[in-house]
Amino acid sequence: MTQLLSEQYLDYSDVLIKPKMGINLNSRKDVALERVFKFKHGQVRTGLGLFNANMATVGNFAVAKKLLNKGMFATIHKHYTIDEISAFLIECRKDNVPVDNLFITIGLKNSEDQIQKLKDLESRYDWNNSQNICIDAPNFYIPKAQDVLALVRREFPKSVIMAGNIASADVCLKLLDNADIIKCGIGSGSACLTRKQTGCGVPMVSLILECADIVHSVGGHICADGGIVDVGDICKAFCLNSDFVMAGGIFAGTDDAEGEIIEKTYLTSEIIDGKNKTETKSFKQYYGMSSEYANNKFAGGMGNYKTSEGRELLIPYTGSLDKCLQDITGGIASCCTYIGAGSTKSMSKCATLIRVNNQLNKVFEKYSV
Ligand code: 5GP
Repeated sequence: MTQLLSEQYLDYSDVLIKPKMGINLNSRKDVALERVFKFKHGQVRTGLGLFNANMATVGNFAVAKKLLNKGMFATIHKHYTIDEISAFLIECRKDNVPVDNLFITIGLKNSEDQIQKLKDLESRYDWNNSQNICIDAPNFYIPKAQDVLALVRREFPKSVIMAGNIASADVCLKLLDNADIIKCGIGSGSACLTRKQTGCGVPMVSLILECADIVHSVGGHICADGGIVDVGDICKAFCLNSDFVMAGGIFAGTDDAEGEIIEKTYLTSEIIDGKNKTETKSFKQYYGMSSEYANNKFAGGMGNYKTSEGRELLIPYTGSLDKCLQDITGGIASCCTYIGAGSTKSMSKCATLIRVNNQLNKVFEKYSV
């Protein structure tokens, strides 16, 4: 019989973090943002657990470089060639950009070629057999995903491997035989149409709660992927005991994201000299990796057996990525001072989350400048 779970599943917008007394912290400067990650298959990495999404728009070299330079983690998308990645790695070496926290993405399609790509990179760049790998599939439940994961682990026994996406705890233990980080989240992405097209998905707060404990119980790590609207959502994910957060949309409007700035002029309702005043706004393109646009660009079309599960968007241009990253680190450090957490690692121990009806006071929203 079909099961219907009547417990309400919650998203970031359903909860807030309750401020409370904790250790004595007088300033955000005293918060340790970076932490040490000891991975299940042996590697150790240090950093602030934030990733850019492995999407063509934000999983690009420019965004990756800035995140790595700020002590965060980064992915690069799967459509870069070996030559392009090699040139990027050489540039990083020249510019003193640390690449220990860089993850190279592969997909499931043509998996043998993709594994060969990783091997070639291994021989061209001296990773000491420990390059980090992100195996990305919108649906990691399919047997092929598990097969590719097992194959990659066999070929790269020392690598940190991040695998996903999934949206239930039942599959985590099986994946952790070969993966170090489980990427959780189906249908939460801002350029995603999976919930509309398939009816499938799980809200992020409940999903992190469901997966984190089981993953941690065997020494694994989780990455909460998708649905970050504001910095506060990153704080909530860390408070819920997600080790990593992956985000796309919040980086997609910045200068360093792929694509040109597009200007559009609109008629406003304000009348000057009998004419509607015009207003010009700047945008950047952001598209889902399963969108028709991405399929046309990278896969020669949609194929007649599938529908698009991603959207193509023009989102507001937001300017400097440095400023965006500063807002993120500032917000996380400030959250720590509200809950008395001395480090990002201790956020989950210090936090109480509360279920709310209302997040923000929006009374003057339309007047914001
Ligand atoms: P965002 O931070 O924009 O809310 O979400 C980014 C995440 O959305 C990505 O890391 C990825 O998991 C997911 N995503 C990217 N492209 C697509 C797509 O075309 N369809 C779906 N369903 N999810 C996508």
